[in-house]
Amino acid sequence: MALGTIEVAAVEGGPVTLPAAAVEELGGGRCGRLLQAGDDGWDAAVLIWNGMAATTPALVLQPASPAEVAAAVRVAADHGVLIGVKGGGHNIAGTSMAPGGLTLDMSRLSAVAVDPAGRTAQVGAGCLLKDVDRETQAHGLAAVLGFVSETGVAGLTLGGGFGYLTRRFGWTVDTLDEVEVVTADGQVRTARADQEPDLFWALRGGGGNLGVATRFGFRLHEVGPTITGGLIAWSADRAAEVLAAYREVTESAPRELTLALTARLAPPAPFLPARWHGQPIVGMVVCHSGADPGGDLAPIRALGDPIVDLVTEKPYAEQQAMLDATQPKGLHYYWKSEFLAELTPAFCDTFLARALAVTSPLSQSGLFHLGGALNERAEDDGAVGNRTARYVMAFAGCWPPPDPRAGEHVAWARQSWEAVRAFSTGGNYLNFQVADDDATRTSAAYGGNYGRLRRAKAAYDPGNLFRVNRNVTPSAGRA
Ligand SMILES: Cc1cc2nc3c(=O)[nH]c(=O)nc-3n(C[C@H](O)[C@H](O)[C@H](O)COP(=O)(O)OP(=O)(O)OC[C@H]3O[C@@H](n4cnc5c(N)ncnc54)[C@H](O)[C@@H]3O)c2cc1C
Repeated sequence: MALGTIEVAAVEGGPVTLPAAAVEELGGGRCGRLLQAGDDGWDAAVLIWNGMAATTPALVLQPASPAEVAAAVRVAADHGVLIGVKGGGHNIAGTSMAPGGLTLDMSRLSAVAVDPAGRTAQVGAGCLLKDVDRETQAHGLAAVLGFVSETGVAGLTLGGGFGYLTRRFGWTVDTLDEVEVVTADGQVRTARADQEPDLFWALRGGGGNLGVATRFGFRLHEVGPTITGGLIAWSADRAAEVLAAYREVTESAPRELTLALTARLAPPAPFLPARWHGQPIVGMVVCHSGADPGGDLAPIRALGDPIVDLVTEKPYAEQQAMLDATQPKGLHYYWKSEFLAELTPAFCDTFLARALAVTSPLSQSGLFHLGGALNERAEDDGAVGNRTARYVMAFAGCWPPPDPRAGEHVAWARQSWEAVRAFSTGGNYLNFQVADDDATRTSAAYGGNYGRLRRAKAAYDPGNLFRVNRNVTPSAGRA
């Protein structure tokens, strides 16, 4: 690459011209591999999951060590460069890309080291969920991660994190022992409960606000290697009955059973009979990671007459990847979501009416059961909060661009969300926020923890260098 001066977006808005010495510092190898548009690897580095939120940085750096991350952060801080951090690129608001600025693509920090005896894993911040599942399942162990295996560990964890094991073990951050992180002063720190405890507390849910995480230390749990899981689906004519059963089962199910409910138009998938393609269906995604799945699943199977019942014994890692194909990169996505403490009959009626009014064949309405371990901790046990949440619900709009009905799909998600907001806990999931969610939505996501999180932010990032995220210092310049 020919190095000279480069114009990039500045933290405080407007452009800043990086002098040749700074460009040399970034591109000379001490900060990792520097990419500009047209370079090999550029397209993959700037590709993110939500095409609707796509934006382009001027520069991408691919560091391969904490020292390289620290060097990059120091250059960005010294010159006031707008900086973004990409884990898996799955953020719905597209916050990994710093528009016109510098994005740190962490994909080269992808090592996973499992200690089977100690039941822990050290996970590089560039890992996807599937990287961790592969290494941990080799030992019959698992971390508490989400249900689409292409998602980045870093973004998911820093925002809280939930998945099929959350009912048993809590938020992902409830299983976090330590985080190695580069803070705005360019220091590499290791935050734990007994070392930099305020930073550790804030990292447990504070998103990208505190610095650039380079490694996560997770506690693991014995899971699998086979579980009982899969999809079971019915005609939407029976949606009310299926949702009522979902509600009843989830109110008393053992924590080994996690059920998600989905309502959508049936995709043209080979596992669904062709006559159902495009027809409204309602399904349950099942994951049972304990003994006696048959007994626990009996009330669901008692509903009878499903379109398909694909629930079977399978590898846990396969279950983790089961939904990947439904979430391809580059389509346009617009999600609206809330946490719920319970599924009241009034909520269920409203949810179903809105689900059945869906406008795009790719959109879906979903409920995910969370209730269990996370509810047993104090609200201020980590910045993540939301300890009264027992379900997360989402109206997930999706369509391929260009679509002249895009506005209708957005309106469906927004209006559906407006219709159910009264049933919310009042919190919301930071990691499901979209680009047009404002600062009040972010403060609501933290509830009573917002003030303490802002104090940690002020201590570790007083200049709000890390602001391309769900920012908790939104008044400081470009957010
Ligand atoms: C299809 C799909 C399925 C999902 N399923 C789940 C689920 O089951 N459970 C769940 O909890 N969430 C789920 N999510 C939400 C997911 O947790 C967020 O989208 C999360 O932001 C993705 O992380 P990422 O690393 O892929 O994202 P990125 O877009 O790469 O990063 C998102 C943000 O995280 C921060 N960040 C990333 N890496 C670092 C780092 N190393 N240091 C500091 N900050 C960093 C930055 O602020 C960045 O803007 C899902 C999302 C999608 C799109």
